[in-house]
Amino acid sequence: MTRLTVSLVDRTAEQLEDSARQALAGGADLVELRIDYLHEIDASGLGGILDRLGPARTIITCRPASEGGKYVGSETDRIELLARLTTDRDCLVDAGFAAWQGSELLRGKITKALGGDLSRLILSAHDFNGRPSDPAALLQRIRQANPGGIAKIAWQPADARDNLDAFELMGTGGGRSIVVCMGQQGLASRVLAGKFGAYLTYCSLQRGCEAAPGQIDLDQIKRVYRWHRTGSDTRVFGVVGWPLAHSLSPAIHNAAFAELGIDAVYLPLPVPPTYHAFAELVQRARRCDMLNLSGLSVTIPHKPHALRLADQAEPLTRRIGAANTLIFDTGSGNGFIRAMNTDYAGAMAALVTGLNCRPEDLTARRCAVLGAGGAARAIVAGLVDRQCDVVICNRTAAKARALADEFGCRWQPFDQRGSLRADIVINTTSLGMSPNVDQSPLPAEALRADMVIFDTVYNPLETLLLRQARQAGCRTITGLEMFVRQAALQFEAWTGRPAPLDLMRDVVVRRLRSR
Ligand code: NAP
Repeated sequence: MTRLTVSLVDRTAEQLEDSARQALAGGADLVELRIDYLHEIDASGLGGILDRLGPARTIITCRPASEGGKYVGSETDRIELLARLTTDRDCLVDAGFAAWQGSELLRGKITKALGGDLSRLILSAHDFNGRPSDPAALLQRIRQANPGGIAKIAWQPADARDNLDAFELMGTGGGRSIVVCMGQQGLASRVLAGKFGAYLTYCSLQRGCEAAPGQIDLDQIKRVYRWHRTGSDTRVFGVVGWPLAHSLSPAIHNAAFAELGIDAVYLPLPVPPTYHAFAELVQRARRCDMLNLSGLSVTIPHKPHALRLADQAEPLTRRIGAANTLIFDTGSGNGFIRAMNTDYAGAMAALVTGLNCRPEDLTARRCAVLGAGGAARAIVAGLVDRQCDVVICNRTAAKARALADEFGCRWQPFDQRGSLRADIVINTTSLGMSPNVDQSPLPAEALRADMVIFDTVYNPLETLLLRQARQAGCRTITGLEMFVRQAALQFEAWTGRPAPLDLMRDVVVRRLRSR
């Protein structure tokens, strides 16, 4: 069993004990008492806390500043403290690999304190600046220094690919390895530690109390990533993009998996903007049998890369030249990668639902698309496929003209957007997107009550354009609807089950309102 461990960084002993109780009551298997964070260290007071928390619940760590911790006292005092707290107590102690190797005093004192049983000793090595040149060799050296104990390495990965190295190493050492990729890029190594049989994973008690970069909080790892449900059979999904810091997709898809009781987890997988990096992540992840990678969402800048990597794609996805969804067909044994573009399909679904019509009723409707970027491209393709009468209006006229030529529709200069003759106007520019919420791509005077206004921007939930359109009596369609529907179509393609659309919408709304 991989232990869910909360690292505690309180400044006073009282707070530390409170936090430890809260973490254990909240479902943690272990608490790591980072005593180097305490403003004052009182060994007998701490001993009392360890006794009250009970046996086999605690890790004692006093990390010196040289190892990325807060302890600035002498090494001799640190050794005395660790030895004193460990003596006659059933707890784990993290002594640090470099210190262990370099100090006979530390080795002697801790061995004595643990009564010669070094199985409760964690030897850890951290690299906060990058990746060790050979993580496997480093882990091996740590294990050799204390064969029966627990070996830990943690490093700052360059991107999500490092997690794959971490997964391989977690399973070594008979369940007595801890391998952590720090930072946002390393989240998969924390969430999937149980799947790969690591000794433990670390999380924080709450947001803002992280002991290391990239730690997520106890509630998130339990509720969003369903720690206690994730095991060897769990299917893994994720979103690949760069950057990915504010992606709402993990919250939506994990909530949908939970709602339908599907044994699956969805993770952010940030990978730098090259095709090589993207393809390497996907191919290596697919080769990792235990990972059970089953599907991916793909976002900027990797959508063209996803299409390039795929074996199969619908004709319209090929025409758009970008895919936002990959499906890995492993059941048939052919290992095919299928690509889809649910951006266009989600936009068309939002439009049809908003208009309360059938897809074929869109034929010959006059549609104006503002913008000529990636979202515009997918939407123009969808509208042309539905035989709409499309005009494109973009700040950079050459891009409007090129897109119109490619899809056989018309374009108009951006400064003429106030006099567009259209039944449906779709904003695909970023105008009005947070934080520029006082911008709108259309002057209010251009809005007529018989128009349908569809704004693909979903943050804020009601843009200035949508507010003015509502006030002018127009029918409005939100970017939220498109966003949720593209996610729902992905979910259905991966699972073969109807997506819980209302729940997915609620998740996005709650997340956006809490920002
Ligand atoms: P993109 O490829 O970078 O295109 C951005 C577009 O916005 C371009 O047409 C650009 O015009 C235009 N633009 C940017 N700043 C402008 C300004 N100050 N004045 C006039 N036009 C401006 O981005 P994208 O991927 O297409 O995304 C665009 C928007 O679509 C985003 O705001 C996003 O919120 C929304 N979106 C929503 C969903 C959804 O599911 N709801 C999905 C995807 C995208 P130039 O060509 O002149 O630079």
